[in-house]
Formats: sequence, C-alpha cells, structure tokens
Amino acid sequence: MQPFLFERAVTIESALNAAARGARLMAGATNLFDLMKLGVETPSRVVDISSLPLRGIEQTAEGGFTIGALTSNTAIADDKRLRTAYPLVSQATLSGATQQIRNAATLGGNLLQRTRCPYFQDIQVDECNKRRPGSGCAARQSIDRLGAVLGAPSDCIATMPSDLAVALTAVDAEVELTSLAGTRRLRLADFYAPAFASAQRESALEPGELLTAVQLPPCPEARNSIYEKVRERASYAFALVSVAAAMSCDGAARISSLRVAIGNVAPGPWRSWDAERLAIGAPMHPATFARVAGALLKPATLGRTNGFKLEIARRVLIRALTGLGEKLSHGQDRTIDTKV
Ligand code: SF4
Repeated sequence: MQPFLFERAVTIESALNAAARGARLMAGATNLFDLMKLGVETPSRVVDISSLPLRGIEQTAEGGFTIGALTSNTAIADDKRLRTAYPLVSQATLSGATQQIRNAATLGGNLLQRTRCPYFQDIQVDECNKRRPGSGCAARQSIDRLGAVLGAPSDCIATMPSDLAVALTAVDAEVELTSLAGTRRLRLADFYAPAFASAQRESALEPGELLTAVQLPPCPEARNSIYEKVRERASYAFALVSVAAAMSCDGAARISSLRVAIGNVAPGPWRSWDAERLAIGAPMHPATFARVAGALLKPATLGRTNGFKLEIARRVLIRALTGLGEKLSHGQDRTIDTKV
C-alpha cells in the first residue's frame, strides 16, 4: 500500500476543509481500504470522519425519516420504525455483506461505494477506462457476465453494487450534499445519473462535497414493499440482480401506486416511471406485472454472456410484484418482519 497521511476530523467544517483540499474522506473504511490495499486507490491524505455528528435516524414532521450519513448499516436494519414503514430498506440493508461489515459500514459509504468490476479491481489489467481513461474496457472484451445490460455508457459496463441504493431509489429518497458553499439535495435517481454517461463519474458528488444525510419522504405504499436479491451464493455476495418494489391498491383491488427499481443491471439503480404508470388502474395480476417488466427492461443492450441477467430481472420482478399483490388481496398485515 502506498504511504499516506492519516488524520481525524472532529467537526464537519474541518472535514469539509479537508475535502476541499483534495483529501479522501473515510468512514467505515469497508470499501476504500480494500481498494487502497489493491493499489486501485492511492490517496496521499485520508481523513477519518467517523466521529462527526452525522449518526441517527429521526422521524420528520411530515412522516418521513432523516438518516445521518454515518449511521451504521446495522442501525438502519435494526430500526423498528423503518422495518414497519419501509421494509424494503431494512431488507436491502440486511442482504448486504456480513454482520461484522454492517456494524462498521455506513449509509454514506454504502451509497458511495465503487464498482466491483473485477478488471477495475485488478491493477495488472491495463484496459480499464474507469482506472485509466482512454485505455479501453477489458470487461467488454472478455468476461462480461456481471456487466450492465441497461443504460451503460459506451466506455464502461460496470454496475453499482449497493443494495441500499436500489431500495432508496424506489422510494424517491434524497441525498443531502454539503460543501463549504452550502447544502443541496438530490433525488437518488439524479444522484447516480452521471454514472450513466461516463466511466469517469459514479455519482453527482462534486470534489469538496460530503454526503451528510439521506431523506426518506413519506411513502405509504412502502409499508407493502420488498427487496429481493439474487446472488451466486446465499450470503456475503453482491447481487446478480436485485428488485426493490412497493405497491398499493384501491378498494377495487386495482393498482393505485407502484414503485420499482432494479439493481446490478445498470451503472446505478434502474427505474422507469413510464413503466410504473402502465400499472396504475390495472388489476394486480401477473399479466400486468409482465407488462411492467417488459417496459422497464425494454431498453436492454446485451453483451456476449450477460443476457441471463435480463431474464432473472424479469422473473424476479414478476414474482416480487405478485407477492405484494397477494398480500394486498388477502389483507395481510403489511408489516414485514425482516429480523434475522
Ligand atoms: Fe473498467 Fe468499467 Fe470496463 Fe470494468 S466495465 S473494465 S470498470 S471500464
């Protein structure tokens, strides 16, 4: 590992000053240190922000929640209020990594984690536009089975691995970004939009900015929600495909609201408001959900070996929505116990 200067910021202002001077900010260190040990990240100055007052989960007057960026994944998964109001957020959090990692990992770090493309993580590989702009893309030329099938820029097919990002995108959560110039808020979908344009950008976070909080807006349909993750082994694995969905119905059992985001198929969570609108007023039937899946996944561009992800996404989405529909039809308690 390349030597680096290590400091600790004790105030948000000192962290922002360090960020403005180009320091890398570190919270749980579950991603940054891995990449430093691999030689992918080589910062000369790392500032530990883990003691900043950015922890906690507060209910807002409107009925949503504000979650501090340094709140641990364990705290999010264990919060009973979130488990009732946003089961998909709890389930997504619990599906990530291991208990030990969730204890250390933070919300902000989770949303800002970098891609797990194996060629990006291997500095012996020369062709990686993300590490070495203009060098090419080894994944496109060789093993692309984990690569994006939707929305990838021409120079990179890496996917964003965060489970939480998918669930939070489905409920229109916003990130709060703070710099010395002030604070701005962005919807998650807009936060990840730059990743769909270039290998060089993974989010809208600008140099000198700190992700300070996530705002969960009130979302009644999220009480009937689910996060499903398909992976190659049962635990401690990133998703091949994941689905976050929430649904409500009217008195005639017709869909009144639908939210869907798909993970690990694109450079960021994949969502289509047009596809969701197709379901409004329709019966909660697999045929309706197949239409939604068809529209959501229609823009897919397949590589040589990653086409299977599209079929998994279609099937998991229909299964997830059918399950949500059955709960609504049978009037079951919409509070899903996610405790494991
Ligand atoms: Fe690099 Fe992106 Fe290609 Fe992976 S997919 S090798 S990260 S350019």
